[in-house]
Amino acid sequence: MKKIDDKKISVVIPVYDNSASLNELSGRLLKVFEQEQYDYEILFVDDGSKDLSGKVLKDLASKQEKIKVIFLSRNFGQHPAICAGFEKAKGEIIILMDADLQDNPEDIPQLVDKLRESAVDVVYTVKKTTKEKILTRTTSAIFHYIFSKIVKTNIFLNIGTFRAFNKKFLHSLLQYKEVNILYGPLMMYMGYSSCYIELPYTSRKHGKSSYTFFKRLKLAVDSLISYTNIPHKISVLLGAILLVTGSIYAIVIVLQYMFNDTSLPGGTTLIILVLLIMLGSLMLTLGIIGSYVFRVYQEVLSRPRYLIKEKINIE
Ligand code: UDP
Ligand code: MG
Repeated sequence: MKKIDDKKISVVIPVYDNSASLNELSGRLLKVFEQEQYDYEILFVDDGSKDLSGKVLKDLASKQEKIKVIFLSRNFGQHPAICAGFEKAKGEIIILMDADLQDNPEDIPQLVDKLRESAVDVVYTVKKTTKEKILTRTTSAIFHYIFSKIVKTNIFLNIGTFRAFNKKFLHSLLQYKEVNILYGPLMMYMGYSSCYIELPYTSRKHGKSSYTFFKRLKLAVDSLISYTNIPHKISVLLGAILLVTGSIYAIVIVLQYMFNDTSLPGGTTLIILVLLIMLGSLMLTLGIIGSYVFRVYQEVLSRPRYLIKEKINIE
């Protein structure tokens, strides 16, 4: 226990269909912890995996009691799974990482050292070179830029899930009770002192990312809607612009009719054009309002974020 003054480290790893990488991941984690002589616990949260992940995790936990497993009753999604892990984490330092070996266990000491030395509350990781698809890369760069500007927080570009933070940060994190929780933007939004380290990008070894372009888009829209009032402002602005231009146009036409003796424009073209603009803006506004109502409804229900089916090596 030389390195971190006997501080216990909790590694939280959400698992969804990662059976191919779990053995290697835990082997490498244990090796790192052995080498560094950390006191540790590894918390795997099985988010209703449909492959053999559950069985692999049970085997691992039966051999090593520091490997703890929480089985959720079904697939709740990455963030609720992370939440389940956070709520059970007992360490002074918490590490969050993915189960697909895109985050290297060997980088944990670097994260932990940085957290200790720079006296910050959270250390993020940023991918140095990225071989992700150009579409994913550009869209996430654009999103990060817009989001940083709107929320007025400095959000590091190419930030990964892999991060380390202290108990104080975890405690604050757990005070956020929203049902639709998203840890990515939330952690940045919370403030506290932070820094990042750069790590090379590692591509996925097994299987495909469970995120498609549309799943990512949904995440971006969700973040914008739950953290900003921009969509609502857009609808107000759009409505105002339409109303003002419409009124000016109407006044101009009437004045022309009165003083220039021009005939009033008529015909189906005009009607269809006006209808299209009006209906389009109405539907957009309704959609935006609807998405807020839906979220309010969900939050009012305050359903549990996840349900635990089984726990191993956890009291
Ligand atoms: N994950 C999860 N539940 C889900 C989807 C993903 O717990 O419904 C976990 C997954 O096991 C992995 C992490 O979230 O540990 C990130 O998922 P993935 O690698 O598919 O996303 P990407 O790295 O491509 O963003
Ligand atoms: Mg991944």
